[in-house]
Amino acid sequence: MKLSGYFLPVLKETPTDAQIVSHQLMLRAGMIKQTSAGIYAWLPLGLRVLRKIEAVVREEQDKAGAVELLMPTIQAADLWRESGRYDAYGPEMLRFNDRHDREMLFGPTNEEMITAIFRDSVRSYRDLPRTLYHIQWKFRDETRPRFGVMRGREFLMKDAYSFDLDEAGGQASYRAMFVAYLRTFARMGLKAVPVRAPTGPIGGNLSHEFHILAETGESEIFYDAALEDVDITDAGAVEQLTGIYAMEAEEHAKVENCPVPADRLRSRRGIEVGHIFFFGNKYTKAMGMTVQGPEGSAVVPQMGSYGIGVSRLVGGVIEASHDKDGIVWPDAIAPFKVGLINLRVDDAACAAVADDLYAKLSAAGVEVLYDDRDERGGAKFATMDLIGVPWQVVIGPKGVAAGVVELKRRGGGDREELSIESALARLT
Ligand code: ATP
Ligand code: MG
Ligand code: MG
Ligand code: MG
Repeated sequence: MKLSGYFLPVLKETPTDAQIVSHQLMLRAGMIKQTSAGIYAWLPLGLRVLRKIEAVVREEQDKAGAVELLMPTIQAADLWRESGRYDAYGPEMLRFNDRHDREMLFGPTNEEMITAIFRDSVRSYRDLPRTLYHIQWKFRDETRPRFGVMRGREFLMKDAYSFDLDEAGGQASYRAMFVAYLRTFARMGLKAVPVRAPTGPIGGNLSHEFHILAETGESEIFYDAALEDVDITDAGAVEQLTGIYAMEAEEHAKVENCPVPADRLRSRRGIEVGHIFFFGNKYTKAMGMTVQGPEGSAVVPQMGSYGIGVSRLVGGVIEASHDKDGIVWPDAIAPFKVGLINLRVDDAACAAVADDLYAKLSAAGVEVLYDDRDERGGAKFATMDLIGVPWQVVIGPKGVAAGVVELKRRGGGDREELSIESALARLT
């Protein structure tokens, strides 16, 4: 992508209405534009990151055996009356009528819809277990939308739903998602700690939230310091992690004798990036879903639901990975891998080298943002640093005369001069 033809409306000043660093940087880097309170347009750079995060989430869901489908954003009120949640949900639900005066809503979550779909098409125990997921926009009319995409009203969520024949199966599905979540967050360079959570309006008995630790987090969590030593990329981490005391504040408050000695009990702010629930037959029972069991009798399936805040993660990753100059994207979700800077667009030799590198990197499938604009070097460096592209290749007249380019790693800032061939080999 040539920057001269791209759409990257960066801001020089920090917007005064943005309180937290991720929101400030997303606005400054031209990633998002607010269109109404808590509702954002994803500008090209922001969209690239959103899609990358979505891709990581999707890959890990697929690996865990979940099957993707796509349910609509708009739902009928009658569907929610079947579970009893239409009246219970409250003002966070955006409700409206269609031209025939039928009551509709913009989905805040999809338990009812997936249960109805499953109920209408699954008859036998042979079709279980199944976990289905989609990545779809949700709307919740939050009282205080704030912190940019962290608490939007319209936001992108991955939500998965598991159906099992019995409780043991349901627990196994829950565990599989737990592992998928640890992998998903680790791939984004995040340490997300799982904490026991209240089940709230979704109901049920087993639930974990996944939190990124950050001062700006809206949740408060309590945990045993031992949690900090667990390597969460380890596949065996689930047993270890669930065995260590970690609770969301509301749950912690209910604990009469906290088993963690005071000197080991940590209290931190966290950003909730994922939440998993096992709630048994709450929806399947209310909505009359049964399958024929192996012995011929009707069985009410056991369900779980599993959310990841895909758009919230864009902000969450920035909270966890930035410096004074801007964003530092982890490689796995960077909008581009390489920022190619030609310091002298008016110099034919520099332009030839830069054009050639751009063509070769692109041909090798490397995502390159090529700053071919007629701008000062300082402005070009500042933009690349701000938008956080992991590798920068700098081309200037002196280097070109000596047959070298400069390669800079955004995180850590290591710089190195090397031949054009070596730079190519390093980046492809
Ligand atoms: P919160 O406590 O932040 O209000 P929640 O507990 O209401 O979130 P869930 O119903 O558990 O949210 O939804 C699953 C995930 O969707 C959350 O873990 C979070 O990452 C994301 N999410 C929820 N609400 C929002 C929002 N308003 N904006 C962005 N992401 C959100
Ligand atoms: Mg909420
Ligand atoms: Mg919550
Ligand atoms: Mg939650």
